[in-house]
Amino acid sequence: MDLKKRNNLILITAAVAIFLLTMIDSISIKKFTRSEMMMDTLVEISVFGMGKDKKKLENAIDSAFTEIDRIEKLMSRFIVTSEIAEINASDSDEIYISSETAYILQNSQVISDLTGGAFDVTLAELMELWGFTGDSPSVPDKSAIERLMKHTGNEKYSVSGIDTIYRVKLEDPEVKIDLGGIAKGYAIKRAAEVLKESGVKSAMVDAGGDIVVIGNKKGKPFNVGIKSPDGEGIIGVIGAEDIAIVTSGDYERFFIEGGVKYHHIIDPATGYPARKCKSVTIIADDALVADALSTAVFVMGAEAGIQLVDGLDEVEAMIIDSDDEAHFSQNAHKYIKLKEKE
Ligand code: ADP
Ligand code: MG
Repeated sequence: MDLKKRNNLILITAAVAIFLLTMIDSISIKKFTRSEMMMDTLVEISVFGMGKDKKKLENAIDSAFTEIDRIEKLMSRFIVTSEIAEINASDSDEIYISSETAYILQNSQVISDLTGGAFDVTLAELMELWGFTGDSPSVPDKSAIERLMKHTGNEKYSVSGIDTIYRVKLEDPEVKIDLGGIAKGYAIKRAAEVLKESGVKSAMVDAGGDIVVIGNKKGKPFNVGIKSPDGEGIIGVIGAEDIAIVTSGDYERFFIEGGVKYHHIIDPATGYPARKCKSVTIIADDALVADALSTAVFVMGAEAGIQLVDGLDEVEAMIIDSDDEAHFSQNAHKYIKLKEKE
């Protein structure tokens, strides 16, 4: 073979190899991921799809983050222009709200009724008094707690809607709303819907352990770790496919005073942190339901909580009670694999 012919052959082989590699790359499944601080937590969105769809999948992630940001701006009581801040600052006892805020408040009431009042979005003033979101939380005076408790309770507000015009009516002018136990669930639910609308078939949205998964990961369920309530590490793994997994724990936001741990999930019946559980994981189709239930079941405790969950379709729970005992709903074992104790 003369030199020219040989060089040509090398060139052709190289071109074919590059072409094949590019082809394989474009149709192989890749992970696209991004994290942002939102809703006071690190939100990570991971999408799985073909390399050739890179642009489309990255745009989908952008849209999902934009959606979470929009919901936070609508529902955070800490953002003065939000609808919730507006309700809380209003002198009027009747305030117009968007259909979305109405939807969340109506769902809050359904979950509250379902849980005997364990879920309660009227605890904003109590949260302020305890100072969980501030720099120096401390145990308040009992009298101050009792005073605020007069203005809490789900019967203190009602939501009405006629012809797509929605209003919240405050039965007590001093009632203040805090959607901290449900809005994150709604935000990740909507983020997942936006991803699906953008053509995403496989993804995970993780807002600090509140998780929604779309589809599966290369034909197998996503593995979602359940954090140990007493430190680092995980106590088990959930096989997740098209489902939401939300955990409420006493380790998320707390302070210690006089050797006692005080955390941010308040028992609406006492005004003090709920004492029966260390962590509650809820597995459900709907992330909003999972979020609200994880908070409510935490307040209710293992016995009443498991009883409630067993009566609900498509909802499972794992509860670690204050004695470190694990409790499971009837079909939780379908999803949860516990780690062997070392
Ligand atoms: P996280 O926000 O850490 O995921 P949760 O979903 O359990 O945890 O929500 C806790 C938040 O919910 C608190 O920070 C507070 O804003 C609000 N909250 C506290 N107690 C209750 C309650 N009994 N019902 C409804 N919301 C609550
Ligand atoms: Mg919650």
